Amino acid sequence: MPNIDWKNLSFGYTKTKYNVRTYFRDGKWGALEASSEETINLHMAATALHYGQEAFEGLKVFRGKDGAIRVFRWEENAKRLQRSAEAIMMEPVPSELFKKAMVKVVKMNEEYIPPYGTGSSLYLRPLLIGSGAQVGVKPANEYLFMIFVTPVGPYFKEGFKPVDMELVRDFDRAAPQGTGNVKVGGNYAASLKATMRAHDEGYAASIFLDSKTKTYIDEAGPANFFGIKEGKYITPESSSILPSITNMSLRVLAKDMGLTVEQRHVRADELDTFDEVGACGTAAVISPIKRIHDRDTDKNYLYCKDGNAGPISTKLYESLQGIQMGEIDDTHNWNMIIE
Ligand SMILES: *Cc1c(COP(=O)(O)O)cnc(C)c1O
Repeated sequence: MPNIDWKNLSFGYTKTKYNVRTYFRDGKWGALEASSEETINLHMAATALHYGQEAFEGLKVFRGKDGAIRVFRWEENAKRLQRSAEAIMMEPVPSELFKKAMVKVVKMNEEYIPPYGTGSSLYLRPLLIGSGAQVGVKPANEYLFMIFVTPVGPYFKEGFKPVDMELVRDFDRAAPQGTGNVKVGGNYAASLKATMRAHDEGYAASIFLDSKTKTYIDEAGPANFFGIKEGKYITPESSSILPSITNMSLRVLAKDMGLTVEQRHVRADELDTFDEVGACGTAAVISPIKRIHDRDTDKNYLYCKDGNAGPISTKLYESLQGIQMGEIDDTHNWNMIIE
């Protein structure tokens, strides 16, 4: 066993034994190779470096109460990577290849899967880049698909803790007909300045509005937004939001709990009317929000007035985590067990 303090891991990079790689060359995917190198050899004219041909995924593997190794809804990640690839003209990775690479890298790093009960998990980072050289603006004809893994701690060290976020209008993350709905690195580059300013000002993330009208809530930093009121789970509909698999799952669990699910435009001035609001994504599952500060009007929207996450957010969080850890019946067949 590696010498890792499982209970005090951060959400950061820890070296493991192997990563897996395969190249698309001459019109076909080559052999899947395991490597213990943390670096890649890349042509200086690779399109990933110049024209942003880069997409990634993020998913988690859990060691369950019963000892089994579970991966959550990987097919959705595989499909999303295919959509991202198509959006920026890269070679899509077939789901079967994605699965093969995932199973191989998890098995080869089995000793890095955190034990049950530590709150930690193994984070998988699949990466697809244009590795072929081009100087003119066109897609590469060679691609590298790789997956590396790293054990990560719970996103919130103190547990499920409400955070503050900041509503901004002076930055856009994505354009309505741009690449906001796919998981490409360029969206992150575009949001870094707003994100770092939010951190400097004491916020967990900035909440972006739709860039065309600045009226509707788009994304909550690198996560989807949701609000709860009147027995409803409400999440924004927008062409520039990345379809979160966590959000997709929470919508199903919300319905299971008897809530009505609405996916529609959410005006920023509707923030006043929610009982609970949160951000959702693989890293934290749910980040409950206790305050949203509007940077332009200085208005504060306050939630979690007793300091704790709301009851519905808590129940949703516990249900999703329970399924991932194998503590609750996986009635929707979301987990795949890796043997
Ligand atoms: C990855 C990501 C999310 C969360 O998606 P999950 O599938 O739930 O992890 C939300 N927003 C953005 C911009 C993302 O890149």
